[in-house]
Amino acid sequence: MRIHRLPSRQTDRDYPHLRKKIDRNAKMMHSSGMSAHATLLPTEKIQAIESPPMLYKPATPLACTVLRNERLTPEDYSEDVRHIVIDLRDRDYVYAEGQSMGVMAPGTTPDGKAHRVRLYSIASPGAGEPGYERAVALCVKRVVYETEEQRMEGICSNFLCDLREGDTVPITGPNGKNFALPADDETDLLLFGTGTGIAPFRSFLMNLHSRPKPYGANVHLFFGSRLKIDHIYANDLNDDLLKHSQNERFQIHSALSRENPAQKVYVADLLKMKQELIEPILDRKNFAIYICGLKGMEKGIEAFVRDYLSRKSGKTVEDGEWAELKESLKKAGRWAQEVY
Ligand SMILES: Cc1cc2nc3c(=O)[nH]c(=O)nc-3n(C[C@H](O)[C@H](O)[C@H](O)COP(=O)(O)OP(=O)(O)OC[C@H]3O[C@@H](n4cnc5c(N)ncnc54)[C@H](O)[C@@H]3O)c2cc1C
Repeated sequence: MRIHRLPSRQTDRDYPHLRKKIDRNAKMMHSSGMSAHATLLPTEKIQAIESPPMLYKPATPLACTVLRNERLTPEDYSEDVRHIVIDLRDRDYVYAEGQSMGVMAPGTTPDGKAHRVRLYSIASPGAGEPGYERAVALCVKRVVYETEEQRMEGICSNFLCDLREGDTVPITGPNGKNFALPADDETDLLLFGTGTGIAPFRSFLMNLHSRPKPYGANVHLFFGSRLKIDHIYANDLNDDLLKHSQNERFQIHSALSRENPAQKVYVADLLKMKQELIEPILDRKNFAIYICGLKGMEKGIEAFVRDYLSRKSGKTVEDGEWAELKESLKKAGRWAQEVY
């Protein structure tokens, strides 16, 4: 069924005959159980790269050795973020890009129970951390929080950030199968990361750039942080992400929310600024969206996609309908989010 696409709702005033036609189409689709917006989204399920199953459970963690603990933010900067490399030589731990690793901090809770596992996105490609025989890296931010009485340190992040070369780290997993790269290379990738949420995208990009045949579709990484210095893997201390040459099909876009107080740019703002680049990708209907990082960051991205669908169909996407559409994108493997 053909849908007439209007550039904006404002044109309803200018083309009332088209509005009638759209409403008629929408009614027909509604009666046939199909949403007007659904036809603007890709429905074909993506075949993903296979993710290995969980090999190590919390009851039987795997003891590994730390090879490196490198600070990714300056010593005198308030945020302490680390690149921690863990040795996997002589270990049967295998993982795919987009999976997380569990870490069990030693010690017990005040009521004597073992600390629960904390998850960390794997920052290395499935083939292993470059420069090491067989290793995997995590990107960890030291969590500190204040209660009314005292300053407290997050259990696992502080354990990890304080590790030294040669120390033992008990790991579990790998976890998760829903944040996997598409198996074919025709799917446009829209990647959104904030803070340590950049970790899985480092692993994605390293995979894509190590392939003998270059990735065939567009890849756009939208990356948000407060300042240039906490642009993890893209600052003076470590520029792993910037090592990949950019071209028309592969681009990194950065949003800095505190660098210039007069111009705070968040990932959602950047999307609007790059609308002309992104909308043709949504129009082509063979995309996958990946979101990782701060809880709440997904809202701006959802608003952008909802707005696009509303403008294209000439009909506002209501909350309930959006929830259904997002669910169908998730089921098709075209919307993956890990926010924490
Ligand atoms: C899929 C996934 C992937 C992740 N990937 C990463 C990653 O790549 N890098 C990364 O750094 N993190 C990542 N995380 C977050 C990580 O798992 C941990 O949640 C984080 O490191 C904090 O753990 P912690 O043990 O240091 O803090 P915890 O000790 O668990 O404390 C965390 C928070 O709990 C609250 N809290 C706990 N106890 C108290 C108390 N007594 N009083 C008041 N408040 C309290 C505070 O708000 C505190 O900030 C990921 C999470 C998920 C789910």
